[in-house]
Amino acid sequence: MKNVSLIISLTLAAVVAATTAAAASDLQGVRFGPDKGKTRIVFDIIGAPTYAVSGDEAGNGRLVIDFQDLSVASVVMAPQRGKGHIATYQFLKRADGGTRAVMTFKTTAKIKETFLIEPSPGVAKHRLVVDLLSADKAAFLASLPSRYPDLGAVIERATAGTDDFVAPSRSQKEVNAQPLEKRVIVVDAGHGGVDPGAQGQSGTLEKHVNLKAALKLKELLEKTGRYKVVLTRESDNDPKILRSQRAELARREKLARDVGADLFISLHADALPQKAIRGGSVYTLSQEGSERSARLAKSQGDYTIYELDASEFREDKYVGEILFDIAQNATNTASSRFAEKLLGELTGVIPLLNRSHRTADLRVLLAPDVPAVLLEMAFISNAKDEANLNSKVWRARTMAAVAKAIDGYFAEHDEQRFAQNGSMETN
Ligand SMILES: [Zn+2]
Repeated sequence: MKNVSLIISLTLAAVVAATTAAAASDLQGVRFGPDKGKTRIVFDIIGAPTYAVSGDEAGNGRLVIDFQDLSVASVVMAPQRGKGHIATYQFLKRADGGTRAVMTFKTTAKIKETFLIEPSPGVAKHRLVVDLLSADKAAFLASLPSRYPDLGAVIERATAGTDDFVAPSRSQKEVNAQPLEKRVIVVDAGHGGVDPGAQGQSGTLEKHVNLKAALKLKELLEKTGRYKVVLTRESDNDPKILRSQRAELARREKLARDVGADLFISLHADALPQKAIRGGSVYTLSQEGSERSARLAKSQGDYTIYELDASEFREDKYVGEILFDIAQNATNTASSRFAEKLLGELTGVIPLLNRSHRTADLRVLLAPDVPAVLLEMAFISNAKDEANLNSKVWRARTMAAVAKAIDGYFAEHDEQRFAQNGSMETN
């Protein structure tokens, strides 16, 4: 197993040009990032792919991805051994000229997320990412894109005779009846325990107002029935809190990864010697922070934080870096999108600093695989803001705006996924 190459990286260009007529996209390789209970599958593709995800319950389940106009070198068409949840995978030519990837599961898993990363400076490829999480077969079927329940049958007709694929025969009604899985939101009440954070003019401690806000946000989010909220601390003397500030921040970061957070929001109150300054602001990770995060990962030799198993990549540091880059690109964009949503909802609800979406090198935002923002709700050093931070009414209104931003962020996220998964419809 150790000798199985992590990247099926082939120089396809020449082969493809000779055998395929003007394909819209070329497969460069398939990579797997297995980790405890998770597997990330990455398809490296030159040219924007058009694809649809489906599957069936044969064996431990099969994941099927149909590509329109994707060229694959014949050597890759042969069955290959997978990693993590994937036992084997194979590319098949469809009767209509499309290409189908069929992946069989070694152990059952569901699709956590499917997304496409566009080329970025220095990265010419499109990267189609499928994240799998350990789950039973029913959860896998429920996790399949549900917007086009007949897609399997459409594909089946187009590919008759090419393999033994059985289309999922669930009706739209059945699909709609599947309960949606709750999003996991980690709400971090900044500071706590031995670390009081900043202090207001009339003595308010930041750690206390942060916790009250976090508890309110948890209540509002859970009331919708759409979220599972995990707090990094439940109280001021939560036994989980570590004495060393550095260790404590690392604990919170790790917690967000361990619970499979879909979003991480850290609540704080700002302070400055200039007591007149007031207003909220939102922070995401800066470029310097990203670089520091990368250095941190390398110095620890620990790529598990990118949903990857370090031992799998020790023989090839470069692979670890590529996958790190993938995780980080996706996350920074998501963090920024959420930050903008948050500011949109907070505008008119609380005073905001000018140019309030800032990037900062903040340790708590460094987990690269979880979209994260830090909200400075107000300036505890300003008398009016301090009074607001202590006001139940103000807190409820502000946290309602944050909850609305979270709703808006995921609604947009789902819409984008719908657009991607529905792309076969134009066929
Ligand atoms: Zn703080």
